[in-house]
Amino acid sequence: MNFLMTEERKLIQNLAREFARNEIAPIAARCDQEARFPMEVFHKLRDVGLVNLTVPEAYGGPGLGSLEVALVTEQLGWGCAGITGAIGINTIVADVFHSAGTEAQRKLVFGRLLEGQWGAYAVTEPSAGSDVAGIKTRAERRGDRYVINGSKIWISNAPLAQFFIVFAKTDAAAGHRGVSAFLVDRDAAGVSLGKSLGKLGQRAAPAGEVFFNDVEVSADRLIGDEGHGFMIAMKVFDRSRPMVGALALSLATRCLDEAVAYACERHTMGKPIIEHQAIGHKLADMGVRVEASRLLVYQAAGLLDAGQPNTLQAAYAKLFAADSAMFCATEAVQVFGGMGYSTEYPVEKLFRDAKVLQIYEGTSEIQKSIIARELARR
Ligand SMILES: Cc1cc2nc3c(=O)[nH]c(=O)nc-3n(C[C@H](O)[C@H](O)[C@H](O)COP(=O)(O)OP(=O)(O)OC[C@H]3O[C@@H](n4cnc5c(N)ncnc54)[C@H](O)[C@@H]3O)c2cc1C
Repeated sequence: MNFLMTEERKLIQNLAREFARNEIAPIAARCDQEARFPMEVFHKLRDVGLVNLTVPEAYGGPGLGSLEVALVTEQLGWGCAGITGAIGINTIVADVFHSAGTEAQRKLVFGRLLEGQWGAYAVTEPSAGSDVAGIKTRAERRGDRYVINGSKIWISNAPLAQFFIVFAKTDAAAGHRGVSAFLVDRDAAGVSLGKSLGKLGQRAAPAGEVFFNDVEVSADRLIGDEGHGFMIAMKVFDRSRPMVGALALSLATRCLDEAVAYACERHTMGKPIIEHQAIGHKLADMGVRVEASRLLVYQAAGLLDAGQPNTLQAAYAKLFAADSAMFCATEAVQVFGGMGYSTEYPVEKLFRDAKVLQIYEGTSEIQKSIIARELARR
């Protein structure tokens, strides 16, 4: 990977690595147990300049690219995938305005993010997750306003966010061409939060329900044109999937690191278990997947930064890295034996944290469908 590593990238990578080891890893298990996002970590990360990386310089941000986001996510996620995933949502919110939005909206939203505000990205509904075009939330135009009604579920950071990107149907009969995206403030009349959802893993990252009951927004809060919401969501996926792939890579790397250390230390039948071929081969399989995930993630991010299409490569990266994270977590627990099942050791949490990587930002099944579609187009 050295060919990609400029001095600036190495500096950012090292800063993120140190941050993860000193500030995130030591509190990760406690935050997971308490299902608490550590806002103090976000403030420290903001102080060292490792949030909102893609906000352009013209708006006061560092103006970095998708590859830098991947490098930082890969390092921070080693400390905790939940904490890092929650922070990454603000990058997805920024992605919306890289993909669409007026100058005034960019100025507003990038400014709010740089001030330390949080956004949340609200597509999924009780009856529609993979089926984005099947959402039922409605936005009805009335003069110079839209009135939004509906409900969202599984919205990451809903309890922390000051504003939402809300996808709603402006034309219920037009399928995916009837979806539009809106910027909605948390404190707008008619917005309310449901319960924070109990989760298997990544428990430091809150996710919840959001309800919209006759919520009025001015027409200048429509992002892109009416009916362009589905296209915006697809463009955002091309940007967000390399980042989520990097999060999966970080988790797989942590699994490998923990498993190798344990396998060198733990002895059975007179030798370290790494010298039993069955265990050594597990570590080899994990190592190959980590390296291959890294190549795919960097490729998907690098293409985006170069302004080239990356839909196929982003799906490759997200699919392979997420499946590899689950694979590596499963094998890490096995390498630890009984201790892998204990909350006293870190791999139990890694195992729980890994699963959702195959579900959010498009399930593994959906990634395969995208890959098949893109291959057919060639
Ligand atoms: C922790 C967490 C955080 C989340 N954060 C957010 C967020 O911030 N914002 C947001 O909008 N959403 C968020 N989501 C929702 C997430 O994106 C959806 O759960 C995901 O897209 C799957 O949708 P679904 O749950 O409705 O499952 P479904 O779409 O009902 O899928 C169920 C199963 O069927 C499969 N399936 C469905 N359709 C097809 C098909 N066409 N071909 C093949 N297989 C198919 C799926 O792969 C899956 O295995 C989050 C979810 C979780 C668990």
